[in-house]
Amino acid sequence: MKINKPLYYCTECKAILPSLDKLLFVEEKSTKGFCSEACIEDFYIPLIRHFESIELNMRKNLGIEEEKINFNFSDKQLVDEVLSSFDEVWKVSNELDEEIFTYIKHYDKFSGVVICKVYSGEASFVFLSTTTRSRQFLAEIRTGEKVNNKEQSAEGEFPKEFSEDFSEDDFNFMQLLENKKSVLLAELLVKRKDDDIPFEDFMLYESCFPETLETPDEVFESRDKEGDTFIVYIKSYIKERENFFYIISCLKRKDKENEDSPDVSVFPVLAFPTNDLDLYSEFRTGKRIAGHLNN
Ligand SMILES: [Zn+2]
Repeated sequence: MKINKPLYYCTECKAILPSLDKLLFVEEKSTKGFCSEACIEDFYIPLIRHFESIELNMRKNLGIEEEKINFNFSDKQLVDEVLSSFDEVWKVSNELDEEIFTYIKHYDKFSGVVICKVYSGEASFVFLSTTTRSRQFLAEIRTGEKVNNKEQSAEGEFPKEFSEDFSEDDFNFMQLLENKKSVLLAELLVKRKDDDIPFEDFMLYESCFPETLETPDEVFESRDKEGDTFIVYIKSYIKERENFFYIISCLKRKDKENEDSPDVSVFPVLAFPTNDLDLYSEFRTGKRIAGHLNN
């Protein structure tokens, strides 16, 4: 038995985990991993206090400590709505490249605000949620860099098309997307070989994401067990020091307005680099709809 082998442990309780896939992550570009939701909460709760106290001070300064907004849904619904159909997103990064996002959604009579961490393109931990009618309060809330909805804020998976007219169809599709993501990720974790590109290095390959979508070497279309259509984009990179593939698996969505319409949109479900030919082959299934083999 070797004393020093790859070690994965919970950032909070230091429990040793058997493998990387047992770690839960909250932050993009971070090695902070956790053994459980409970440890995630324990770790971040002091930051919730931090944001709450700032909010309280801001409200005191503006004389709106007692601002009461009646909205006829729960706090959780508010958070879900603000995150899924936001009007504005702001991003603050520190010198360690850690990012915290502020989401704002404007309702008729008030605005909803959610401050959170984002992981894999979705909110992973909420520090603060609040509502306000005060323009000044909103002005103070808007800090950092405004994220253009089109821009790929974290992993590029903000469904910008949904920011307006978010319908039940959209909601169902988002849920489907989430489910597919968990399934694909779980499969990937099982199939990945130990010597494949480590997760912590994935951020080094971010620039491959747009390149692969724009100029893929191969594109495949296939259906999964549930009959949903996936489009897989693959680009091979031959570099001085390493060769690898970048693979993006996207879920296809037909135009909801018109079922017969040929217009389709594709939404990235999973994107990753790999140097494993077997894994690459696994994704080359279905009908090749574009591209040629690069030798
Ligand atoms: Zn733990």
